[in-house]
Amino acid sequence: MATDNPGCLGFLFRIFGITKSDKNKEEKFPYKLRDDFLSPSELSFFNILSQVIPNQFIICPKVSLQDIFFVNEKDKSSYYSYLNKISRKHVDFLICSAKTLQPVCGIELDDRSHGREDRVKRDEFVNQLFKTAKLSLIRFTNKKSYTLSEVEEKLHSIIFHHEATDIKETPIEEQFNMNQTPLCPKCQAPFVLRTVKSGSNKGKQFYGCTNFPRCREIAYINDDQIHTIK
Ligand SMILES: [Zn+2]
Repeated sequence: MATDNPGCLGFLFRIFGITKSDKNKEEKFPYKLRDDFLSPSELSFFNILSQVIPNQFIICPKVSLQDIFFVNEKDKSSYYSYLNKISRKHVDFLICSAKTLQPVCGIELDDRSHGREDRVKRDEFVNQLFKTAKLSLIRFTNKKSYTLSEVEEKLHSIIFHHEATDIKETPIEEQFNMNQTPLCPKCQAPFVLRTVKSGSNKGKQFYGCTNFPRCREIAYINDDQIHTIK
């Protein structure tokens, strides 16, 4: 909580006629609201996208890659070097499940600058990032206007596929030796055995990923087999 109490040191300074510099009080805040959060072509695309995307999904514009992905690296210096690669990049649109906000696919609008050498490198990196993290990425050529059918056509397979496989239970017991600590199938971090603390499943044990909450992969034990829920 902010306070004007000068504290003991401030009191002593005052006795000796030393006051805080006015400089601190005039701290600059050179910030203004941008009028171009979305460019005209991005807005045009967003409006079409809003008509194409079914209600069970939502569209998030301009999402930082750091908010979508995490760095699965224990070595501190390597960790920050990998983090820097994604910290100042964003994806133009992210389609998420409206219920869980879990990302379903990213969308990039490629303008003319995408032909530049630095952009090509950046795009290759982003493509590889999405592929490695198993998140779909769809690219559209940036233009002034879009038709419903062209956007729908490109998105259809991904959205349709996601709807069909929204909740799928995959037994992966063959990957686990019950006598060893199992590894998270998503990020390969060790799983840790936890106990449900409340609700109808109170007392039941399950495996959770040690990268929680960035990785929420869990597995439960049933009939001496370990299962994950996708
Ligand atoms: Zn994990």
